[in-house]
Amino acid sequence: MEDELRALQESIEGLKRSLPVSDHHDSISEMQQRVGRIMSLVKSSGGRRSKVKELSAEVVDSNPYSRLMALQRMGIVENYERIRNFSVAIVGIGGVGSVAAEMLTRCGIGRLLLYDYDTVELANMNRLFFRPDQVGMTKTDAAVQTLSDINPDVVLESYSLNITTVKGFDTFIESLKRRKPEEDGRSSGVDLVLSCVDNYEARMVVNQACNELNQTWMESGVSEDAVSGHIQLLVPGETACFACAPPLVVASGVDERTLKREGVCAASLPTTMGVVAGLLVQNALKYLLKFGQVSPYLGYNSLKDYFPTMEMKPNPQCSNSACLERQKEYIQAKPARDALAKAKLEAESSSQTECPLHMDNEWNISVVDDSEAETSNHSRKPDALPEGLVRELPNADKYQEPPVSGGISAINDDLEELQRQLDALNSA
Ligand SMILES: [Zn+2]
Repeated sequence: MEDELRALQESIEGLKRSLPVSDHHDSISEMQQRVGRIMSLVKSSGGRRSKVKELSAEVVDSNPYSRLMALQRMGIVENYERIRNFSVAIVGIGGVGSVAAEMLTRCGIGRLLLYDYDTVELANMNRLFFRPDQVGMTKTDAAVQTLSDINPDVVLESYSLNITTVKGFDTFIESLKRRKPEEDGRSSGVDLVLSCVDNYEARMVVNQACNELNQTWMESGVSEDAVSGHIQLLVPGETACFACAPPLVVASGVDERTLKREGVCAASLPTTMGVVAGLLVQNALKYLLKFGQVSPYLGYNSLKDYFPTMEMKPNPQCSNSACLERQKEYIQAKPARDALAKAKLEAESSSQTECPLHMDNEWNISVVDDSEAETSNHSRKPDALPEGLVRELPNADKYQEPPVSGGISAINDDLEELQRQLDALNSA
């Protein structure tokens, strides 16, 4: 294909030379440019790797997953390969969503569903991910173009729609529900939804869909002045939903679009967006691959590098009826949850007593019962040391009097002597 394009380019060049200088030259030059663009596209797709059947832990430069599989070898993640079974939906492919999509793609996520209604603009170039040559493309199509090049193993679905319209919402819900035959019994076909939108109306729509589908989701946001952000985990029925404690704008029922002033746009920084996307995907990975602790809410204040955390319980008076249903189900399932946790705890403790952690005991370390150690401690005087130990430093609690010889009269003698010496110096 490359050879044929080169031949075509040479023929066009020949045609240009043979024709007299005329208006045709412009269209011929344009043809040459187009052939050049096709050629660069062919060249770039030539570097694309083929799909891999299964993730390999082999440490070779040609393995795109060796560094990720090392997490398993180092005991951070029990089974990294599971990442290929997960589907994640990202709503809003802007400054945070596009970076989150790239991170998950590079991590080898199984399936990504991308939702956005916007197109790429030059005004987006202060952030990461999109390139100037993608201006005019829909954000979802541009994202699929880049992501499929980075990792062809990821199944990408592009939904260029507005979820806040009735039609958009229906398509959104239907696409989230679509699942593989082996996943029957679940109300949702995705494992996690990441909300990366920039307005409350869209957040309320994601909240509605996830409450209806009993779908766990994570919310993210960056402030209008670009210097702070947050991420939040929302588990329907278990944690507060977005309507449980709505922001003032939502609670007061004001249309947020009326708050925008003509000619004034929100600020944005690639740094804050990158940090928030990183925190979001880190928590998504922890949630999916079950390692570490998933933050229920994590704030980021870049001016002070302050990261507040907190937990929010669901509101029994929430205005969202689907949220109230999920809350009821969560309370009803408490006995089953407790029994499961107890059984898990018992299984863990019995497996611990059955086999010792270390078979050999080179240093003859023995475990002493805590209660026994405490009673023997109490029988000693508070300051006493165990037998055979002596203090090397003086007891700091006690002020050591300096040795005084002769008492007050000796000090007075010294002072008189000092005075005499000073007088002698002054008179000299
Ligand atoms: Zn709620």
